[in-house]
Amino acid sequence: MNKKKIVIFALIALAIVAYFQFGLGQYLNLDALKAQQAALDDYHRQYPWQVAGLYFVAYVAVTALSLPGALPMTLAGGAIFGLLWGTVIVSFASSIGATLAFLAARFLLRDWVGERFGERLKAVDEGIRRDGAFYLFTLRLIPVFPFFLVNLLLALTAMKARTFYGVSQIGMLAGTVVYVNAGTQLARIDSLAGIVSPALLASFALLGIFPLIARKVVEGVKARRVYAGWQKPARFDRNLVVIGAGSAGLVTAYIAAAVKAKVTLIEKHRMGGDCLNTGCVPSKALIRSAKLLSHIARAREFGIASAQASFDFAEVMERVQKIIKTVEPHDSVERYRELGVEVVEGSARIVSPWQVEVICHDGTMQTLRTRSIVIAAGAHPFVPPMPGIEEMGYLTSDTVWNLRQLPRRLLVLGGGPIGSELTQTFARLGARVTQVERGPRIMPREDPEVSAMVAERFRAEGVQVLLNHQAKAFVIEQGEKILIAEHEGKELRIAFDVLLVALGRSANLTGYGLEELGIPSGRTVEINEFLQTRYPNIYAAGDVAGPFQFTHTAAHQAWYAAINALFAPFRKFRADYSVIPWSTFVEPEVARVGINEQEAQDRGIAYEVARYDIDDLDRAIADGEAHGFIKVLTVPGKDRILGVTIVGEHAGDLIAEYVLAMKQGIGLNQILGTIHIYPTLAEANKYVAGVWKKAHAPATLLRWVERFHAWRRGG
Ligand SMILES: Cc1cc2nc3c(=O)[nH]c(=O)nc-3n(C[C@H](O)[C@H](O)[C@H](O)COP(=O)(O)OP(=O)(O)OC[C@H]3O[C@@H](n4cnc5c(N)ncnc54)[C@H](O)[C@@H]3O)c2cc1C
Repeated sequence: MNKKKIVIFALIALAIVAYFQFGLGQYLNLDALKAQQAALDDYHRQYPWQVAGLYFVAYVAVTALSLPGALPMTLAGGAIFGLLWGTVIVSFASSIGATLAFLAARFLLRDWVGERFGERLKAVDEGIRRDGAFYLFTLRLIPVFPFFLVNLLLALTAMKARTFYGVSQIGMLAGTVVYVNAGTQLARIDSLAGIVSPALLASFALLGIFPLIARKVVEGVKARRVYAGWQKPARFDRNLVVIGAGSAGLVTAYIAAAVKAKVTLIEKHRMGGDCLNTGCVPSKALIRSAKLLSHIARAREFGIASAQASFDFAEVMERVQKIIKTVEPHDSVERYRELGVEVVEGSARIVSPWQVEVICHDGTMQTLRTRSIVIAAGAHPFVPPMPGIEEMGYLTSDTVWNLRQLPRRLLVLGGGPIGSELTQTFARLGARVTQVERGPRIMPREDPEVSAMVAERFRAEGVQVLLNHQAKAFVIEQGEKILIAEHEGKELRIAFDVLLVALGRSANLTGYGLEELGIPSGRTVEINEFLQTRYPNIYAAGDVAGPFQFTHTAAHQAWYAAINALFAPFRKFRADYSVIPWSTFVEPEVARVGINEQEAQDRGIAYEVARYDIDDLDRAIADGEAHGFIKVLTVPGKDRILGVTIVGEHAGDLIAEYVLAMKQGIGLNQILGTIHIYPTLAEANKYVAGVWKKAHAPATLLRWVERFHAWRRGG
């Protein structure tokens, strides 16, 4: 706590102590007020302004310091100043006092709370920004929480002070009038409890929820307005149409069928989408072959004098296709039909908020009438409009799987996860790979030390990693393909045979009706927290919606899309992105959940780090994979996990324990208290928890325990 805060805290504490010490409370109760009424009236007649001023200051002080006694003071206001002036004075004094309490609590506590509950507070803040004024108004009219608690708790959120003041002043007015009015009849009041009748309380409650109801109505009217001009069908043939049978679309359709809805899934290309056909599955299959080669190259490390691999690249690529074929039935038309999904193979276009037109592969056209639509149209590789790039005959993650001849010199443009996975894979398969990244490091979402470790391994495996290299143009010189790049202000030329562009993936936003329906999009389709587009019955999920581009996040969103599309407005859920894990399958493998150090610093979140280096782990040593680390970020002084980064063998599997822990609110103490099988890589999770525990050992207690042991030894 800084000096200013200590002084303010001390002053507030002093004032509160003085209030109780001098028994000031005895003057702020009904009986005392009644006894003093004649005297108060007398003073007021003699010194009207002074009494009003003093009363005002005292009222502000009582509310600002959250002291008991505001209610009797309000009655006194009525008794002394009458209904009109009593209401004016109390209304301003109570609002100013409440705002001072709010400001003081914010000054003293908001940073502290922000540091400890940064992530959770963010969600609360979002809600407050959206609905805070409504909630406050309701709380002022229906005082389920004491007012002083409302003042203190809202101070910890992002609510603006002027909103707090304004809403408080309006929200408390009705109650103020009632109590001030009662105060004008002070002599006849026997208890505070009887002042407000149940009927009056009920009308307050109605008044309190009125703005919320009004807002819902306004939202409803707004939503209706977007449908103006569209002819809504009298009835629907199906509950849901899903456009795209990738990870998001498949899971959406699966869930819809599981809850007995009539659902149609439309796919224009290949069932399974990117993940099965050109993404996760082929890349992991190829990575496996490449990894085998890397082990053979390391044979000596494993005590094998020599081992050689002779292989045909084309066969390796055929294996990739075989793996796809093996997985294919999981996503097949037949399987989904068996699950109760109607599958249509063709190209879909939304023609109205309730109608989807499909040009089927067999040349026929269908128009489907549906209550809801889920857009799961995915993404495609982004290829920048760079001079000369089209003449290069470049590959992307869509087309690289067609290669049957290993490129001699492969140029990979891009240092993100896809570019990095393919860089290492092709290098291990024997290509001379140059990876070009315009930023200062590859895998920039991870902490710098992670990027450095991966880049170091790439270089050790023969990859030329070029950082801070901005690709400018491509040319062909004397039959050779050349990239012209800029590095530190200088132009340089890099020769290559095959170009692989891996510069990110852009959402598919054109050609299926978004433009015609005026569904807004930026980099992705614009959706709200319920995954609804501008049309509340049209949803989007997966790569087309973002903000993540993973199969598991597409599937995660699919649940919300399906349930909301089928059950809104009766029940709908906000998509929960609080615990999102991912992994990049390079070697050393990198996995993450929650925040890393870089993000914690950028967002000003206080954290502690517990780190365990895997080179110390028995199983990793036995496996010849003694490298990498686990880094756990926790709330300072607590075992609550904010984020975990794992670098090392099977990092993507090891992280699962932390994903569960974060999702279920399990801390490092509980991980430490859980048996992990020896010898496994998973033991590292327990060891890092041990590192945290050691750093938080109760030093004083241990000193006493040491003395206890000495005593037991007779010392
Ligand atoms: C090389 C690579 C490796 C990857 N590795 C991983 C990984 O290891 N782990 C991971 O989690 N993620 C990985 N991903 C990302 C993952 O593949 C995607 O996040 C995931 O496929 C997104 O699923 P989706 O359903 O949103 O889109 P998609 O899988 O792209 O599916 C969209 C589908 O919609 C169809 N479609 C589009 N428009 C229409 C239309 N008008 N009518 C009918 N059908 C239409 C498309 O044909 C497509 O089949 C990888 C991606 C790539 C490229």
